[in-house]
Amino acid sequence: MSDEGMTPQLPLVESKPPVAAGRVSAAAVRSAFDSHHPPDPDLIADCVHCGFCLPACPTYVLWGEEMDSPRGRILLMDLAQRGERPLTGDMVAHWDACLGCLACVPACPSGVAYDQLLESTRQQVERRFRRPLRERMWRGGIFSVLPHPAALRVAAGALWLGQASGLRAWLAGSGGERYAPALVQTLARLAPVVNRRAVLGRLPAPRRPAGGGPARLRVGLLAGCVQRVMEPHVNDATAAVLAAYGAEVRVPRAQRCCGALELHAGRERPALDRARRLVAEFEDPALDRIAVNAAGCGAVLRTLDRLLADDPEWSERAAAVAAKVRDITEILDELGPPPTLQPLPLRVAYHDACHLAHAQGVREAPRRVLRAIPGLELLEIPEGDLCCGSAGTYNLTEVAASRDLGQRKAANLRSVEADCVVAGNPGCLLQIRASMAASGGALPAFHPVELIAGSLLASDPGRFRAPGSVSGQSDRI
Ligand code: SF4
Ligand code: SF4
Repeated sequence: MSDEGMTPQLPLVESKPPVAAGRVSAAAVRSAFDSHHPPDPDLIADCVHCGFCLPACPTYVLWGEEMDSPRGRILLMDLAQRGERPLTGDMVAHWDACLGCLACVPACPSGVAYDQLLESTRQQVERRFRRPLRERMWRGGIFSVLPHPAALRVAAGALWLGQASGLRAWLAGSGGERYAPALVQTLARLAPVVNRRAVLGRLPAPRRPAGGGPARLRVGLLAGCVQRVMEPHVNDATAAVLAAYGAEVRVPRAQRCCGALELHAGRERPALDRARRLVAEFEDPALDRIAVNAAGCGAVLRTLDRLLADDPEWSERAAAVAAKVRDITEILDELGPPPTLQPLPLRVAYHDACHLAHAQGVREAPRRVLRAIPGLELLEIPEGDLCCGSAGTYNLTEVAASRDLGQRKAANLRSVEADCVVAGNPGCLLQIRASMAASGGALPAFHPVELIAGSLLASDPGRFRAPGSVSGQSDRI
């Protein structure tokens, strides 16, 4: 793995003196952060320490620790910013334990921009804090695979071989997985059931509006990196549903990872390089909208203007692309349901993906488009605002907390006795399937567009209702 960016290269900021009078120390004039976008002291000062955000924070709910709450994490940023504390392993651990779920943002009456504070802090940590070797190797391994569809295809091929040969089922059935290293057990727990098409990782085909009429919207489709390989049927369903709703669908063929996973982990340089490439791929002026069916990607693409604001060559281009980004359900909601939707009598639990509900504020559009399916009953999940524990790469780096949140989500899901669950993010789908399977009660998990496609095709509802099935995945669309 590379240590790129970990050596401090940038000048330190002269920080403001502490608020408390008479306590200015020599350490206080030197911030622990460098001058490249440190957490903004004015944003830190917006926090009035009221604590309204605490019940919304999954890690505070789990552990009841002040330093694992939004307020505590902001206090640590403040101490580091003022130079009152250096960046230590303990301090970084509290920021690492943050899911970045942003449930604290809508919960905060003072409008604290915790999302921007966390983003800046994580970038500082990646540049200025040297993690233990094992951790660096694990994180380096994750980022040498996840943002790269080619590497993901190799991983999907290995998974498929393991499944097809019966090795995976044998290991699970014999308890052999227990003897594997902890990291391998984590991967085995989360790995999806893949099909042969995943190994190809191909993009969906472009589509003309169904029925041959004029396009009501021209939509560019983001295929995503994990989605494209691990859930290719979701991209196919997205394109098919958009066409059925009257849109023309264009799929830029050279598109790659948008950089969201790296940005969430503080890896600024590769994330912004990917963001620039994606802007170049999607800046077709003929596009009216850019459809995103992975909430984590959508949350980042909507902020492209802010992310590339410093770059004179790209800032305007990024802003133009960001303005067109929508979650797929927002576009379907805008177009309105076609008369061709057929009944799908199912009890469906709706899981709010954090990066859709909290980061993008998209809550009603997915519910409306699903309720438009005749016969479908949409169910709310207890503690619905609590993260499922997926959170980008969190379930690979903070395994215990992720597992606890996954089990809590699984218990809440079981309580509503649904036929299946839907979520607009591939990470949530993988996490929910793994958590349900680990708790002994498999529940099929789908992206909303899969149900809409099923309704358009008058599918047998039994295909979405598969108690006993490990994953609920299929080759349907
Ligand atoms: S982040 Fe907002 S809600 Fe939380 S303590 Fe600060 S001001 Fe209060
Ligand atoms: S982003 Fe989520 S985990 Fe992090 S402080 Fe906010 S609510 Fe807590």
